[in-house]
Amino acid sequence: MPKSSQAVAHPSNRSRRSKLKRALTKISRVYGNPAWSQDESADGRDVLSALILTILSQATTDGNRDVAFARLRRRFPTWEKVLKADVKKVEEAIRPGGLSRQKSVRIQALLAWLKETQGGLSAEFLRDLDLPEAKDQLGHLRGIGVKTLSVVLMFTCGRDVFPVDTHVHRVCRRLGLIDERCSAEKAHAEMANLLRPGESYAAHVNFWKFGKFICRARQPNCDKCPLVKDCVYPEKNFSRTR
Ligand code: SF4
Repeated sequence: MPKSSQAVAHPSNRSRRSKLKRALTKISRVYGNPAWSQDESADGRDVLSALILTILSQATTDGNRDVAFARLRRRFPTWEKVLKADVKKVEEAIRPGGLSRQKSVRIQALLAWLKETQGGLSAEFLRDLDLPEAKDQLGHLRGIGVKTLSVVLMFTCGRDVFPVDTHVHRVCRRLGLIDERCSAEKAHAEMANLLRPGESYAAHVNFWKFGKFICRARQPNCDKCPLVKDCVYPEKNFSRTR
């Protein structure tokens, strides 16, 4: 008789869940238990502005992203005007954010898609979608990947979603929560399986801080790491006096 295809919890998943639980507890002693609030939603920004900001944020600093967004809004006071503008003018407006040629095309493609499929320049419908649904609808648009959608769903819409950016991806790999070769995109689904309802926001914010300030890409501060017992990273960086 063939075995049931019903998945029995895989032992490695159980141990990864235990490891994650320990990590969340220990890291919350360092950074607290942040919770999403309306104030966190990028100053109450609408979803479309948040999506465009996220496109602008690719491969640049937050400062340059904000300058590019402010210039875009100043030159084109409505999204309709951005959609109808010569793409070169949009490109020029967002130049301080870098990669302006491809970002201008992506912004106009997003606006054109919204107009065609939603009948207007609003992305508020995203507030009612979960990540797989959002990915199904917008994932074909260039520049709107799983990370972009996760960031907007979590920060702007307050959804229980766990974005995996570069810091979070590194931390998850070094702690052995995901395989070393697991891509950031795939890590969204892997981590969604390990997290319990209501954990994602604090987990993301605290892993991000931990990755930025302690488990840095180069020369992680392993002397100060509260998670060292669960770390599988072979190149830990301890001071010689240890
Ligand atoms: S021991 Fe070092 S490499 Fe490992 S998780 Fe901690 S800071 Fe990162």
